[in-house]
Amino acid sequence: MKLENYEVHLPNYSIGDEIYGKIGPVCESYGKKVLVIGGPKALAAAYDKIERYVKQTNLTIIGKEFYGENCTYATVEKLRQMPLYQQADMVFGVGGGKALDTVKCLCIEDDKPVFAFPTIASNCAACTSVSIMYNEDGTFLRPHFFVRPVMHSFIDTEIIAKAPSRYMWAGIGDTYAKYYEATISSRGERLEHFTALGVAVSSMCRDPLIEYGRRAFEDHKKGLCTYDVEQVVLAIVVTTGIASIFLTKDYTPDYNSGLAHAVFYALTSCPVIEERHLHGEVVGFGVLLALLADGQYEEFEKIYRLNRSIGLPVSLEEIEITESQWQKCAERIPDMSDVAHYPYRVTKEMLEGAMEYLKEKVRKDSEED
Ligand SMILES: [Zn+2]
Repeated sequence: MKLENYEVHLPNYSIGDEIYGKIGPVCESYGKKVLVIGGPKALAAAYDKIERYVKQTNLTIIGKEFYGENCTYATVEKLRQMPLYQQADMVFGVGGGKALDTVKCLCIEDDKPVFAFPTIASNCAACTSVSIMYNEDGTFLRPHFFVRPVMHSFIDTEIIAKAPSRYMWAGIGDTYAKYYEATISSRGERLEHFTALGVAVSSMCRDPLIEYGRRAFEDHKKGLCTYDVEQVVLAIVVTTGIASIFLTKDYTPDYNSGLAHAVFYALTSCPVIEERHLHGEVVGFGVLLALLADGQYEEFEKIYRLNRSIGLPVSLEEIEITESQWQKCAERIPDMSDVAHYPYRVTKEMLEGAMEYLKEKVRKDSEED
């Protein structure tokens, strides 16, 4: 075995409904002048609370800026040219995945301290060392990896609980996918410490969702910040972030994807997916097919029940995909990069078998209802 040299920077975070009280102790050693950058909705939801807590510290907010439309290199460059950015000692990024990914790409590359204030729980951008970059036309460009994540994430569960619940709902699907994709894609391999940690951690991308997912979604719909909501937010934002750091070695996402994501990316060729459905929603549907293709019927039952209980899709109709659209996607899936690192070759026949089983399950279920 070859000896390896690598460095790892793990996410630092704090979570709670009054956690902005930690802004002073965490951020003051990095300087004084703070520039706040975020999405319009996120700033509307969180800025006043941030400002209230910053007033109790030695920090000064020197400006509040919208990040832009999308996470593109042009957006990053525009922010970089702002005099306020040049003057700032640190940046507070406020928002969902795109706003946080934008400030990460800006600040981590410049080695300027950056802190994340996630306002929705749909993904792990607040805790990962990667930004998902888009083209100017809104299509996916590539992942941009960094040596470290943000300096610290302040996860305010009160703000997240008041956000639209569909983000957390979709985040659940993308999060349990991490466990199944990591365990399937690493099966039968002798894993070195780094990747083995990622696979081990990924079990916490599934367990809390099966345990707390349904109640958390009910509470979130009422805007309540409860223990169950907190457990699910931690799984989506923190655990998935840590797992994804350990599952991406040498910038190859071999263990970080799989059949569920291949199903999603294939389906994005149908405009309705990007227009009317969320990433995690469709990935959560893809997991059902991945588990059936893999012969994991017990796990399939667990996820099927979870999806049914919170309204994540279990059928093509729910994601507005026709049989012929699905057929075309099923042709392409076996050759997609997401299933390149799989313990076996995914075939069209496997996908057809999985889909038949799923349809039969849904049919039997509706007879019982
Ligand atoms: Zn995903």
